[in-house]
Amino acid sequence: MIRFENVCKSYGSFQVLKNCSADIGRGEVVVVCGPSGSGKSTLIKCVNALEGFDSGQIFVDGTPVRDPATSLPRLRARAGMVFQGFELFHHMTVLENIMLAQRVVLDRSAEDARARSLKLLKRVGLAHHAMKYPVNLSGGQQQRVAIARALSMDPVVMLFDEPTSALDPEMVAEVLAVMTELAQAGMTMMCVTHEMAFARQVATRILFVDQGEIIDDMPSADFFSGQCSDRARNFLERIL
Ligand code: ADP
Ligand code: MG
Repeated sequence: MIRFENVCKSYGSFQVLKNCSADIGRGEVVVVCGPSGSGKSTLIKCVNALEGFDSGQIFVDGTPVRDPATSLPRLRARAGMVFQGFELFHHMTVLENIMLAQRVVLDRSAEDARARSLKLLKRVGLAHHAMKYPVNLSGGQQQRVAIARALSMDPVVMLFDEPTSALDPEMVAEVLAVMTELAQAGMTMMCVTHEMAFARQVATRILFVDQGEIIDDMPSADFFSGQCSDRARNFLERIL
């Protein structure tokens, strides 16, 4: 569903991604971890072209990302993204936030978009918050709205960039629970996260990134049973 082929990217003389290659199959849940500044956000943002890259290619369900013929709104609908900072529209209600892209990008009728939005709000446990504004929700609730909004586009893959890093500790679990439910429902997911319990329990595979390189790419069970690189082991010892 996502294929990285020799992806390279530089900022001036600084190479942030070095020949990154990986394959993420349908239904896989891949956790990307690694030190701060190693290129994790850059790598995941390349998937839906929020960042460009200099050479190599990425395919999302067969569609090349780096291709003038690829429609970016369509690509971003198919690869739904959830950020650390929620990025909701604050002048819109929860319901309007979830309806907007369905109306604009997918051209759904208001009734259809509304019905789908309410269903998704129920799925993330927020059925009674449709008419509220984001400012009146907790961080965990806002992040669940952001997940529902991404899902409203019927994505084929979901991308998460540290979705729980900005949350108060008591709200982390409710967001991870929604992500776990999605994984169990068969969604293909690529998640940058430091939540190693989630990685251990939910991920099928781990990519360990250091200094712009994918150092380890292995089943989660192998990664956590000590078959990872020394660099990954060193990283785990520092964060656990
Ligand atoms: P991570 O998500 O792993 O913390 P990032 O992908 O955000 O890492 O950043 C990787 C490296 O690229 C960092 O050293 C960062 O300073 C650098 N970087 C990120 N964005 C830019 C930019 N727009 N211009 C120059 N350097 C950048
Ligand atoms: Mg980052």
